[in-house]
Amino acid sequence: MAYDLIVIGSGPGGYVCAIRAAQLGLKTAVVEKRPTYGGTCLNIGCIPSKALLHASECYEEAGHTFGKMGIGVSGPKLDLRAMMAFKDQGVDGNVKGVEFLLKKNKIDGFHGHARIVAPGRVEVKDADGKTQSLEAKSIVIATGSDVARLKGIEIDERRIVSSTGALSLPEVPKQLLVIGAGVIGLELGSVWRRLGAQVVVVEFLDGILPGMDAEIRRQAQRLFERQGMSFRLSSKVTAVDTTGKRLKATIEPAKGGSPEIVEADVVLVAIGRVPFTDGLGLDEIGVKRDERGRIAVDHYFATSVPGIWAIGDVIAGPMLAHKAEDEGVALAEILVGQAGHVNYDAIPNVVYTYPEIATVGKSEEELKAAGIAYNVGKFPFTANGRAKVNLTTDGFVKILADAKSDRVLGVQLICADAGNMIAEAVLAMEFGASAEDIARTCHAHPTLSEAVKEAAMAVAKRSIHM
Ligand SMILES: Cc1cc2nc3c(=O)[nH]c(=O)nc-3n(C[C@H](O)[C@H](O)[C@H](O)COP(=O)(O)OP(=O)(O)OC[C@H]3O[C@@H](n4cnc5c(N)ncnc54)[C@H](O)[C@@H]3O)c2cc1C
Repeated sequence: MAYDLIVIGSGPGGYVCAIRAAQLGLKTAVVEKRPTYGGTCLNIGCIPSKALLHASECYEEAGHTFGKMGIGVSGPKLDLRAMMAFKDQGVDGNVKGVEFLLKKNKIDGFHGHARIVAPGRVEVKDADGKTQSLEAKSIVIATGSDVARLKGIEIDERRIVSSTGALSLPEVPKQLLVIGAGVIGLELGSVWRRLGAQVVVVEFLDGILPGMDAEIRRQAQRLFERQGMSFRLSSKVTAVDTTGKRLKATIEPAKGGSPEIVEADVVLVAIGRVPFTDGLGLDEIGVKRDERGRIAVDHYFATSVPGIWAIGDVIAGPMLAHKAEDEGVALAEILVGQAGHVNYDAIPNVVYTYPEIATVGKSEEELKAAGIAYNVGKFPFTANGRAKVNLTTDGFVKILADAKSDRVLGVQLICADAGNMIAEAVLAMEFGASAEDIARTCHAHPTLSEAVKEAAMAVAKRSIHM
C-alpha cells in the first residue's frame, strides 16, 4: 500500500501529526505497536496519572477539608479496586477517542511493530508475527520514550516499579520509596501519600524539581513536607535488596560516604525517561542520533536521511505531550509546504501535585545567568479572595519582566489549578505582552486568576490587594 505519509507511533506527537496531515490532504497511515492508540500519554502517562491525582485529591479533601466547610462525612473509605477501575475507564474513553478521530480523518491504522527498511518503506510485524510492507513518500518517527533505568536495580513492576507499575499497585504500600524528585516521582508520590503510604523521596541533587525556579522549588518542598512527604536530598540509592519480605534500599550521600539502609514495601524508580528507538532499524539506514540517543533533527524536524522526520519525546526538548503535539502539527504543515513552527520559548511545564506548579519562560536563575536585567512582581494567594474562601491559600504568582521593555520573560505559579491558569501567561508570552498588558487586562472576580493580574501590577509596584 502506498501513502503520502506513514507515522510510526500514535502518541500525542504521532496521532496529532497524522490528523493534521490528513486534514491537509495527505493519504496517511499510523503504525502502533500497542493494542490501543494514544501512546505513553494516554495509556500509561498523563491521563491515568491525572485520573489518580484527581481521585486521591478528592479522597484527601473528603477526609480533611469537607468538615471545615460544614460537610459532615464519616472517614472516607478507600476502595482501591474501584479507583483503579475509574482510572482505567478514563484511559479507555481517551484511547477510543483517538481511534475515532483517526477513522474520522480516514487515516489507516496498523497494529504492529514498525521497522524502516529503507527510506519510503516500512515493514510492520503484528503480534502473530505476520509482516506487511507499506510505502510512503514521507515517514515520521514518533516512537516516544521509555523509562530510564538504574544500573543494578531491576524493575519488576511489582515491588520495584516504574511509573507504569505505580499506576496500578494492587494495594497501598505502607512505605513507598521514590527515587527521583522530578515531576513523575512527586505526582505519583503524592497519589500514594494521599491514599495512606509513608513516602520518602530520594534525590541525587540538592533540591527537588531540578531545573525549575529556585523559589518555587523551595516553596514546593516546604508544602510537600507539610503534607507528610519526606525528602533525602543529595543522596543516591545504590542497591535494593529484594530477598526479604520488605525491600531494603541502600542510600548513600551523593558525593559518597557511609551507606544507610531504608526499608520499603515498594520502590518507585522515577529518574526520568529516555528516547525509544528499539527495533526501528535506524542504524541500518543511517539515521543519526545525538549523544543522548535522541534522533538528531534540523529546524524542520528532518533527520539525517531524506524523507524521514522525527518529533516528540524521541527528539531533543522537553518530554511533554503538548510539545509533541505542537511538533506534530508543525511538521504536517511543513510537509505540505506551509510554515509550521513551534515556539520553544513558550512551552508550559506543569506539575499536577497539590498545589500545582506551572511555569513558562525563564526562571530567575536563567535570567541572571544570561545577564538579563529584570523586574519581579509577586502576589501570594493568602491575599486572593477566592483562594481564601476555597481554603487554597498556599502559593504565589511570580512574573519576571524585562527591566527595560517590561516584556514578560517568565511566569511561575504555585497554587491550586496552576495548570489551567498558566494558559494566560503562555498566551501573553506568545503575543510578546508586557507585564503592564496583563495588569491592564480585566480579570473576572472572584477568581484565582486575579492573582496573575496583581503580580503583573506588582512588577510596577502598584498591586492593589497587598
Ligand atoms: C507517568 C507519566 C505522566 C506524564 N504526565 C504528563 C503530563 O501530565 N503532561 C505532559 O505533557 N506529559 C506527561 N508525560 C509525558 C508524555 O507522556 C510524553 O511527553 C508524551 O507521551 C510524548 O509523546 P510522543 O508522541 O512523543 O510519544 P509516546 O506517547 O511515547 O508514544 C509513542 C508511541 O510509539 C509506539 N512505538 C514505539 N516504537 C514503535 C514501533 N517501532 N512501531 C510501532 N509503534 C511504536 C509506542 O508504543 C507508543 O505508543 C507523562 C509521562 C509519564 C510516564
